[in-house]
Amino acid sequence: MQKLEQIYEGKAKKVFKTSDPELVIVDYKDDATAFNGEKKGTIHNKGIINNRVTNHLMKMLEKEGVPTHFVKEISDRETIVKKVSIIPLEVIVRNVAAGSLAKRLGLAEGTKLGRTVIEYCYKDDSLGDPMVNEYHILAMGWATEDELKLIAKYSLMVNNFLTRYLKDVNIELIDFKLEFGKTPDGKIVLADEISPDTCRFWDATTHEKLDKDRFRRDLGGEEDAYKEILKRLLGE
Ligand code: ADP
Ligand code: UDP
Repeated sequence: MQKLEQIYEGKAKKVFKTSDPELVIVDYKDDATAFNGEKKGTIHNKGIINNRVTNHLMKMLEKEGVPTHFVKEISDRETIVKKVSIIPLEVIVRNVAAGSLAKRLGLAEGTKLGRTVIEYCYKDDSLGDPMVNEYHILAMGWATEDELKLIAKYSLMVNNFLTRYLKDVNIELIDFKLEFGKTPDGKIVLADEISPDTCRFWDATTHEKLDKDRFRRDLGGEEDAYKEILKRLLGE
């Protein structure tokens, strides 16, 4: 599989064409951003860890019945994935109040939610990824009713699986963000990444944050936190 020209450079990854029009290569960077790109930095080896963690979790999710874009890891930082047209939504799944939800509803961070909450944000950096609901999504035609049902179903399957899986390595899954895409034959698949950049992982005993909040909030120790996640999940 040949790596051809770069199609896109985002905040955390680059995307390249390949000799197969249905496949692209994603290349994970160490660049870290927060607050819609206002805060910038580097987390040493983050790209390697996020590539490994994402692929490990996506492989397991496939076995659980959640279709994903994953095809093959080809290097430390690079993975071949199915090229999809990304549904322009960030699907946020929450088990415990933190971040923007804690702020919006005046809840103490760490407040357990009575049941799992799904939120949608419209993926548009220039608008600051505004929160939208099912009515907006259908009205704007970003997904059909059936697609949205499937997206919610897969998101809850991801949550159920990850919550159980992480509990075994003493990590509490607070919340996370997913992206979905559509293959040329119209199939909805999980895309993008699942990593400490896109999830809140707390040590279940000490409640220590093992994710990007260390960078967002200047807590320090972000490299060690990412390494700790790799170690607990892959034993590396
Ligand atoms: P951002 O665009 O938010 O800065 P990244 O740096 O992670 O984010 O860039 C990766 C881009 O690739 C994102 O826009 C994401 O939606 C997109 N993407 C993820 N998976 C796929 C895929 N399988 N096919 C096409 N695009 C994808
Ligand atoms: N998240 C993400 N990308 C975004 C926004 C949020 O990966 O652009 C993740 C974030 O890491 C957290 C969850 O989604 O795990 C919920 O984030 P929240 O809405 O609380 O926003 P934040 O506090 O990060 O601004």
